[in-house]
Amino acid sequence: MEEKSKDRKRCSFCGRLENEVSLLITGLNGYICNNCVFQAYEIAQEAMGGAIKGNVKELNLKELPKPKEIKAFLDQYVIGQEDAKRYLSVSVYNHYKRLLQENGEDDVEIEKSNIIMVGSTGTGKTLLARTIAKILNVPFTIVDATVLTEAGYVGEDIESILTRLLQVADYNVQEAERGIVFIDEIDKIARKGDNPSITRDVSGEGVQQGLLKLLEGSVVNVPPQGGRKHPEQKMIPVNTKNILFICGGAFDGIEKKIAQRLNTHVVGYNAVQNTLQIDKSNMMQYIAPQDLKSFGLIPEIIGRLPVLTYLNPLDRPALRSILTEPKNSIVKQYIKLFAMDGIDLKFQSEVYEYIVDKAVEYKLGARGLRSIVETIMMDVMFDIPSQSAKEYEVTLDYAKKQMAKANISRLQMA
Ligand code: ADP
Repeated sequence: MEEKSKDRKRCSFCGRLENEVSLLITGLNGYICNNCVFQAYEIAQEAMGGAIKGNVKELNLKELPKPKEIKAFLDQYVIGQEDAKRYLSVSVYNHYKRLLQENGEDDVEIEKSNIIMVGSTGTGKTLLARTIAKILNVPFTIVDATVLTEAGYVGEDIESILTRLLQVADYNVQEAERGIVFIDEIDKIARKGDNPSITRDVSGEGVQQGLLKLLEGSVVNVPPQGGRKHPEQKMIPVNTKNILFICGGAFDGIEKKIAQRLNTHVVGYNAVQNTLQIDKSNMMQYIAPQDLKSFGLIPEIIGRLPVLTYLNPLDRPALRSILTEPKNSIVKQYIKLFAMDGIDLKFQSEVYEYIVDKAVEYKLGARGLRSIVETIMMDVMFDIPSQSAKEYEVTLDYAKKQMAKANISRLQMA
């Protein structure tokens, strides 16, 4: 006997029969089809201003990577920068612990320790942030402080920092509230000059005051699509209490402030410091919170970034290692490019030294390594896929010839 249509399963929302849809999910007293699931999701998103309260991923401290494991992972990609790596690893691990602490269990509440990393441009700050992102168990995003301005001025509102975090958390607010934000170029919002300015400083102190609110932990209204807040846009309230902030900046010229401070101390009352050998080639290692203040960060912000760490300038051996050692080093990437054409790419070892020489000579830093390799390899990459070569060796002579042809000023722009 044919089944009566009223006995057949159908979507309780749109009425479509089971055989008319790709998926029918069974509920307590009814069914929902795949089409209606999507529609319901969209309606819910719309109603909640783009925010869906979803489940948060369970963390289990035993399964989470320990600081040593986090650092070992960073070591695979980032050369040197021991201090910054250790600080980052511990901070991330402590962040997990904070998220796991039971509220009201006792009176001890672990407070968050936001981090600030200071180091010249191209020494690996962003690379560290990007690398750590790969093994994090919470949402993570990198934002740039240069676009931020005080509310009402051209640029982006400070709250837009959290928009990206919401986006990577698929607008799951609870999940975003446990995330980590890396704020790059934090030095760009420093006050210009040590004295509080009389004229308005839209990209400096005002922004720092706004940022302070985020760092301290408060509920802020985030524009779901970023950019400027405008009245029609529904805001998503986000509590920043548990969001970890990692800030990074080059703080150009801060070495002078460090030197000044060290000098006054040495000449001044502290005789012990007279014996302190100062390594003038790397002043960054002596950085202290008061130097950030001299640079133009307001004391309240510095107070909210209790973990201060630095990156070393990259010396010749470091540049040499960066060329070949990281898991996705520049050289390994070129070898892979050639391997895809069935060509075994080799470099004479003198070529590596030569590349480092050029990077140092033209002050190109680690970023310049890639442009130099690119310059050397461009012609051969153009020709060789159409030839039947099975292997190719880059010789020192060839590298020199290619560099001689190159427009060095273009490299310096990189
Ligand atoms: P910063 O953020 O400090 O200005 P980046 O992290 O963007 O510098 O570094 C620029 C590039 O230089 C990176 O993409 C990477 O290729 C290379 N690099 C810089 N420092 C290191 C390092 N310590 N180890 C490996 N590669 C590095």
